[in-house]
Parts: sequence; structure tokens; C-alpha cells
Amino acid sequence: MTEEPLGAEFAKAYLGGRGINVRRLYDLIKPGIDPLGPENVLIFGVGPLAGTLAPAAGRFNVSAKSPQTDIIGDGNCGGFFGPELKFAGYDQIIIHGVAKKPVYLWINDGEAELKDAGSLWGSDTWDTQKTIRKELGDERVQIAAIGQAGEKLVRIATIAHGIKRQIGRCGLGAVMGSKKLKAVAVRGTRSIEVAQPREFERVCEEIYDEATHHPFAINRGKYGTSLIVEWSQEVGQHATRNWSTPILEYADDIGGVKLREDFTVKMRACFGCPSHCTPFAVVREGKYAGTYCEGPEFQTLGAFGAVCGCRDLAAIMKINSLANRYGVSTSCLGVIIGWAIDCFKRGLITEKETGGLKLDWGDPELLIDLVKKTANREGFGNILAEGEKRAPKIVGKGTEKFIYHAKGMAIVPQDPRAVKLSGLAWVTSTRGGDHLRGGAYLDVAFMISTAEKLHGIRDVADPIAFKGKGKVLPWHENFATIIDAAGLCKFVYIQFLDLLNAPDKVARLISTATGWEMDKQKLLGVGERIFNVEKAFNTREGLTRKDDNWSVPEKFNKEPLKEGPCKGSVFELDQMLDEYYERRGWDVKTGLQTKAKLEELGLKDIADELERMGKLPK
Ligand code: SF4
Repeated sequence: MTEEPLGAEFAKAYLGGRGINVRRLYDLIKPGIDPLGPENVLIFGVGPLAGTLAPAAGRFNVSAKSPQTDIIGDGNCGGFFGPELKFAGYDQIIIHGVAKKPVYLWINDGEAELKDAGSLWGSDTWDTQKTIRKELGDERVQIAAIGQAGEKLVRIATIAHGIKRQIGRCGLGAVMGSKKLKAVAVRGTRSIEVAQPREFERVCEEIYDEATHHPFAINRGKYGTSLIVEWSQEVGQHATRNWSTPILEYADDIGGVKLREDFTVKMRACFGCPSHCTPFAVVREGKYAGTYCEGPEFQTLGAFGAVCGCRDLAAIMKINSLANRYGVSTSCLGVIIGWAIDCFKRGLITEKETGGLKLDWGDPELLIDLVKKTANREGFGNILAEGEKRAPKIVGKGTEKFIYHAKGMAIVPQDPRAVKLSGLAWVTSTRGGDHLRGGAYLDVAFMISTAEKLHGIRDVADPIAFKGKGKVLPWHENFATIIDAAGLCKFVYIQFLDLLNAPDKVARLISTATGWEMDKQKLLGVGERIFNVEKAFNTREGLTRKDDNWSVPEKFNKEPLKEGPCKGSVFELDQMLDEYYERRGWDVKTGLQTKAKLEELGLKDIADELERMGKLPK
């Protein structure tokens, strides 16, 4: 094990968390490597605000090449692990190679050792965390661990922290499993000093005050993200029965109000968060009595409730709880199972493939069984465990036409034709199909006044308009990147603060904490640099404009929505992408970065490498 300083210049250029991780990843691995082989590296990183008084600054990132998508893999997680790592004296951990036998990494106040995890191998994520805390004799140890899915190299495996928080996308739990690393446990007692304490405290108070009074924050503090189920029904955005209709006729049965009234015991929060967006929920009666979980989040409700057609909220809680224990992504698994059911109903998948299982919409016991089978690679689950990019290729027979992902990752369980700014962000996302890279919620929440003041284009807050959306998306992506790199929570800094002032507030937080000169322009420039490193990573792996698309382009780009408030809408991808590449300063025809743009961002070394590889536009 070796230690090295982070370096002030490196930190200023890439800030922290997602930024320092993806730059290291770009430098440390070569294109074309096997994500589950020893050449991949697994990187944990925190931002410069971790462990400080900054509101909602408890997040950390984990990055590696993804075994799910074969491009950049990166996830961001809340809870308490990030600040603890900082209290222990570290900003980043880089894990190389493969252990000979199962181990866990124990980091305690500036000291690190690998400990035997033989007896933990085979345990789920909850039991693993409990056992490690008991072994170390300290209840305050914070742990990120894999479950059976990570050990078995399930390509949608997560890294879990606590009972619900996950590095959920990109299959990074499988990378951890491939290294035979069961967990990383940290404990620290060091204090963190900020450069200008009084000024720093003042900005923290301003943010705290604004964020706690925002209507979204009040709502989120009561329902979490579950109320998006009812909202998506009202505006016709659901992905019901594998995107066959945007109408979810039983939204009230699985939505936020039912979760709060029938199951929620209390709301929980991450380190230093003024909101408490996480329902702790218990099933008290019926078939699933005794089940408890945090959440479920909208992503889980949408994936299993809408995409798989399940109208039993208690069963979805059971699924959520099981998936979190096994360490497998509910967002991805729900979409893969939805695909399998759809193909079974069409006769493309038969009992021969499923091992006798009869797949049908909304069958709770079947869904629970498939979660278990996938996490353990048993029977038909062994195919589902290969993820949304590979499973349809294994089955073949035209099933590829019914899986909806972007760059190999399941898209959000909503219909992009009914929410086009958000949808465009799923397509341009550097890690594939999710909503968190873009952090672009103007049209999800009809934020007309913000759209007008921020961009001068009202229509970008209209869910089905398309003009201008490509122009404004880079701003949102750059800001969302900064929020991840700083280790902050997107709910608080993107949804609960006025977006017009939020970048300025984050810049003030960073400058008063670190003593660096930082303003909002510089800050957004750092976000742009990080995003471009991720894009270059993917370019090096062979991606071009054709990959900024849906797995089934004709589904969303050509077929009009058949029902709901957005009936008739199609996704005008090409027009939006043209605007997007132009605003990014990339080549419109190929979608590739230009040498001039990379050099402007201080990435000459990357420009030179891409040029040598013939991956710059001619
Ligand atoms: S808003 Fe929710 S997810 Fe974000 S830091 Fe607070 S409790 Fe965690």
C-alpha cells in the first residue's frame, strides 16, 4: 500500500469525488481492458467539502470501467461513508489488481490494512456491515460493501452503504467482487479545518435557510421521491409494462401518499443534510409482514411498479429490501425483468429459456423469485445477470427490439417523449441512460420562470417542446458534475436552491472552505473539464455520435406516444443533438470532441492521445 498527497493543482483542476476519480481512471487504465480483469482499478473519492458544515456534503463517488456498459463507470452515494473517509485522513482510495482470497480494507485514522473476509464471503450487504462493526468493536465504523451479486460478478451489482444507499449504477459491485474485495470500512476522528470559518459559516447558513424552506424540500421531506409516481401519472410520463403506455392506471396503489400513510415510520437523512428525504418503511401485515427498508425511491417504484406492472406496494418494498441486501440495482433489474416479461408475452422468450417459469405482468412472487435468481446467477437469472446490453444478445430471436437502454444502461422508468430535456440528458449521459448525470429537471417540474431567467428560453421548460434543449443541457450537465465532484447532494443544490444563484453559492462554499479563488464561471469550467474527460474516456473506447441514442431508436424517435397528455409526441433526437454538440464545442457530424475545445479546457494531453488514436474529427 502506498500513500501520496492529492496535490493542490490536481484538486483545483478536478475538485474531488467524481472529478478526481475519472481523471485518475483515464490515466490509469488502457482502452479495451476487461472491466472484470485485474487491469481495472476501483477508485473511491470524496470532495473538498466532505465532513464540513456545508449542508448535504456527505456524498462520495466510486469509479471504474463499467462491466455493465464497457465505458466509464461511476456512481455517487450519500450516507456517512464520505465524511468518515475524510475524518480518517483520505480524499481518495485507488484499488489495483486482485486479492488472492477475500479481504476487506480497514482504514482507521490514517492507517490502512487488508483483513481476511473469508467468513464474510457469501453474506449479504446488511449482515456484512453488522459483522464488520462487531469485529472491529466500533458502531461508528462506516462501510461500503458488496453482497452476493457483487461476488458473483452480476453486471448490475451495486456497492451498498447502510441499508439502502448504493453506488447503484454501472455494476461497480461486480468490479469490487472481481478484486475479491468484500468491503471498505473506515473510521476517523480527525477534524477538518476550513480556510475562512466565519464566511464559510455564513454561506452554509444561507444555503440551509433557503433549502429548508423550498416547497420541493418540504415535499421531499415527507414523501422522498415516491410522490413522483403520482406526478408522472398526472403528466403522462410513465413507462408502464415496458414502455407500452405512459398511463399507470394504479399509480395511487404504489405512490407516495400510500407509502407515507400505510408504511412509513419515520424519515431519515444523510450526514449534515437539512432535508430528510428517506422514508424508513415497514410492512406490518399481510404476506410480506416484517419487511423493512429505506425507500423505495421513485426509480424502484417505476422499474418494478410501472415497467414490470406490479401494483402491490408491499411486494415492491420486499423487492427493494432484497435487492439492497443482495447488492443489485433495482433500476436496472426492473427494466431487464420488464423486457423479459414483454418478450415472453410476445412468444420470443419461452419456458425453455426461463426454466419453466411463466412470466407475466405484475406477479409479485415471480418478481421476487427473479430478483433472487439474478442476484445469485441461478437458472434464467444467470442471463438477466448479464445486464441490459448483453442479456438480449444472449437470448437473440429479435428480443433486442424490446430492451430500452442508452449506452448499455437502463433508462429512467419514464417516457422520454413526454420529458425531452431530461430524456436528452439520458442519451448524452457519459455513463449511459440515467437522469443524475444531467441533473436537468426544468421540464420535469415545469420550471418556466427559471428557464426564462437562466437561459432566456421559456420553451425548454415545456416537456414536449424540443428547440433550445440541446443548447441549455450542457449548462445543467456541467453544474451537476460539479455537485458530484464537490460531494454535495443534487436534491439540495439543484432542486431546493434557486438555480440562478446556486452556482454562486457553491463557488462561495468552495472558496471559503479551501481558500482557492473560485467564482461561478470558473466552477462551471471545472465541471465542463470533468465532463470532457469522461467523454474522452468513452471516445477512447470507440463511442461516437451513433452511441448517443436509444438502444431501439425507432421506439422513441419515430413512434408517436399513443396516449396521455403528450399523445402524438416523438423524440426529435437529431435536432436536439445538433444543438447540443454545437453548444459543447464538439464536432456536430461525428459527436467527437475537437482539439481546440480540449486544449481550451487544459486537456492537451488528452487531445494529443485522441489525435494519435485517430479519434478526433477530421
Ligand atoms: S436530500 Fe436526501 S439524499 Fe440528499 S443528502 Fe439529504 S437525505 Fe441524503
